[in-house]
Amino acid sequence: MLSTMSIDWKVLGRPGEDNALHLKIDTGQSIHPLLVDCGEKVLDSLRIGEIQAIEHLCFSHLHMDHVCGFDTFFRHNYNRPEFPVSVWGPEKTIELLHHRFRSFVWNLHHEQPGDWVVHEICEGLDLTPQDIESARFATKEAFAVRKDQPSRPIAGGVALKTKAFSMKTICLPHHTTRSIGYRFQEDPKQNVDPDALRHCGLQPGPWLQALIDETLPDTHLLSVVGKEISLEELRKTLLVESPGSSLAYLTDFRVEPGTSDWSQLVTWLEGTETLVCESQYRSGDHLLARKNGHMTTDLVGRLSREAQVENLTLIHLSRRYREDEWQEMRDEVRKEFPRASFPPAWTIAS
Ligand SMILES: [Zn+2]
Ligand SMILES: [Zn+2]
Repeated sequence: MLSTMSIDWKVLGRPGEDNALHLKIDTGQSIHPLLVDCGEKVLDSLRIGEIQAIEHLCFSHLHMDHVCGFDTFFRHNYNRPEFPVSVWGPEKTIELLHHRFRSFVWNLHHEQPGDWVVHEICEGLDLTPQDIESARFATKEAFAVRKDQPSRPIAGGVALKTKAFSMKTICLPHHTTRSIGYRFQEDPKQNVDPDALRHCGLQPGPWLQALIDETLPDTHLLSVVGKEISLEELRKTLLVESPGSSLAYLTDFRVEPGTSDWSQLVTWLEGTETLVCESQYRSGDHLLARKNGHMTTDLVGRLSREAQVENLTLIHLSRRYREDEWQEMRDEVRKEFPRASFPPAWTIAS
């Protein structure tokens, strides 16, 4: 089936080390790369050009293991001329990033391009965020001036809505702080229906591309089996709409089954195609997990089952576990949710 959009994603970092998520949302007309979290060495597997193409850097929170690699990101992007660098995170992100921007000697900056916009997702009464605070920083000012932007309410947790996708957020409890969960959702997409094509006696081929090309108007005529037919008619006959892909990223959080937080998170996740989720502690280490504000393998599996996500990818395993325990951890998740796996690049036997 020919479709116009997709979410291509890759977990960065190794098991037991810092992890992050690199994703590219491809509309068919343009590609939007994003990075979620930026721990130590996570950028090692990306080319410099890929780092410089990242439109949005989204932090779950600013514990060291999620922000240690920021210097590398900053080094490659501080004077990016093409478009602003957009950063997202929980409350205090603007202040903490400002310290990091200023912790270098700046003396050759006056003529440099570079525009940074840092956004904070602010908590509401429950897990739904209430508003967004933003501030701009300019490289040519050596990042000295914090220019606060008007805060804006955040409707239904949707922090960002572009022509290509929406980014929905949730404020998750993580010990005494908060971790932002992100869900990236493509807009509904138009696909060519193979049954309709067969029914009309038409052959698939590159000509179908015109049907999903948004730059071509409905009035455009296409020559099909010797007849001139308008795109409007062909689109009406041959295209079907399906929901776009979705991917959610949750890390460093703790919600207890049976609580209102749990139900809210289950509802928030419903319909998610791919969930990338922390799996920090083994099911037997509940006390430790609760003390540190993390999930256990069995709870991650249960959450995925109740939310009926399609697939679950496990990341962020605690360093306390030896390599031979990783498979057992995945099996603990699979008892609750069989469609759980590690990122393909981890090459842990299934
Ligand atoms: Zn962490
Ligand atoms: Zn943390």
